[in-house]
Amino acid sequence: MSDLTKLTIKQAHEGLKNGDFTSVDLTRAYLENIKKSDLNTFITVTEELAVQQAIRADERIALSKAEGQNFPLLCGIPCAIKDNILIDDIKCTAASKILENYIAPYDATVIQKLKAEGAVFLGKTNLDDSAMGASGETSIFGATKNPHNKTRVPGGTSSGSVAAVAAGEAAYALGSDTGGSIRQPASFCGIVGLSPTYGAVSRYGLIAHASSLDQIGPITKNIEDCEIVFEAISGKDKMDATSVKLNSDELQTTNYKLQTLRIGVPKEYFAKGLEPEVEKIIRGAIKKAETAGAKIIEISLPSTEYALPCYYIIGPSEISANLARLDGIRYGLSENGKALLDVYLKSKGHGFGPEIKRRIMLGTYSLSSGYYDAYYKKAQEVRQLVRQDFEKAFSKVDLLFCPVSPFPAFKLGEKLDDPLSMYLADIYTIPLKLAGLPGLSMPAGKTQDGLPVGLQIIGNHFEENKILAIAEELEKLL
Ligand code: GLN
Repeated sequence: MSDLTKLTIKQAHEGLKNGDFTSVDLTRAYLENIKKSDLNTFITVTEELAVQQAIRADERIALSKAEGQNFPLLCGIPCAIKDNILIDDIKCTAASKILENYIAPYDATVIQKLKAEGAVFLGKTNLDDSAMGASGETSIFGATKNPHNKTRVPGGTSSGSVAAVAAGEAAYALGSDTGGSIRQPASFCGIVGLSPTYGAVSRYGLIAHASSLDQIGPITKNIEDCEIVFEAISGKDKMDATSVKLNSDELQTTNYKLQTLRIGVPKEYFAKGLEPEVEKIIRGAIKKAETAGAKIIEISLPSTEYALPCYYIIGPSEISANLARLDGIRYGLSENGKALLDVYLKSKGHGFGPEIKRRIMLGTYSLSSGYYDAYYKKAQEVRQLVRQDFEKAFSKVDLLFCPVSPFPAFKLGEKLDDPLSMYLADIYTIPLKLAGLPGLSMPAGKTQDGLPVGLQIIGNHFEENKILAIAEELEKLL
């Protein structure tokens, strides 16, 4: 049997349908790769659960075949889940000391949806501590490595999910993206990652980072797989009031062609700081779209330079509120103390990593009386400006093309002691999040050193279908 871990979801589905192999074969092939791996992709491998689910999937497939019925595309396909998304009765750590031994008491909505499809869960993947970071290095379980070059970071924070898919340790994965955590590692590891429109996917059962920005999204080997997973996990959920029902127009991808498309290229994303090799690859991809008939229009998003500082006020403000629940009483690590305050101080003091503490302090400060207007309120106003920039852009063009990251995967340790330079890694992935827009990272080429570079495609709200249709056409040209 050829290497089953190389198959896309669609190919694996066909194989299962034709009886070329079983879901158990597929699952064992991935588990074998996970065992051999030295990338530190998984925090928890749920081997027993995976094999049980695969056996059940094989039974379901056999039954469907006997009845002449189809079975869901994700049935029997092994996947990996970022360790900040709850799977009932499985440890969910967020790679943080404070949740090191936390067992999830229920399934996230996306997990319920995947279970209903007959998915197979291989395990929970590594991430930056509490999904804050951009390198995959701050997990209490140690750094994940980039499969293309083990001296490099895989990007973060969905580091384990992305490295696992890129290294053949899962057919696909789920990650979460607050400021870039799906797209930036997808770019660094040469695969596909989608941060959906805010509200397209339920956040119920995702450990909150910054609630007005967090979205769960697919991490896949190609665009077709991304469509399949996005369709499976998206939709209205009564457990998340911000979730939205997509209509059938918003899900179908057949109406769009490069030939009839206007593509905006934001000039602020090609400014100082962008590495020339990355620029060359991205401009090359844009040229290919132009040759295929797309109209390329240079546009301006003038508030871009304020997006990062705005994010680092709004994000930490929400973090300081969200993480207050991790108090040593209700969840996770609980240290003994003489009085209640002692318990709080010790549990939080030992449980939160340095970046988390930094953000809680920044956020608490920004929200405190006397500073609220100067920081939090101001940041909300700037957020509005960033949103308006995009609104104007989408009155002139259909999609935006730009880089995901100013540079390819950097060296392990390179930015770890310099928070500001780590924050700058997300300079191109953050602005669209402030506007609640969807963004995709797809492979556009490699540097001379063999490091992948991702092209970012940004669409208007709930236009994932347009992004994916165009990305699929472009995938064949790149
Ligand atoms: N690097 C960004 C941050 O640290 C993004 C994180 C994320 O998207 N979860 O906030």
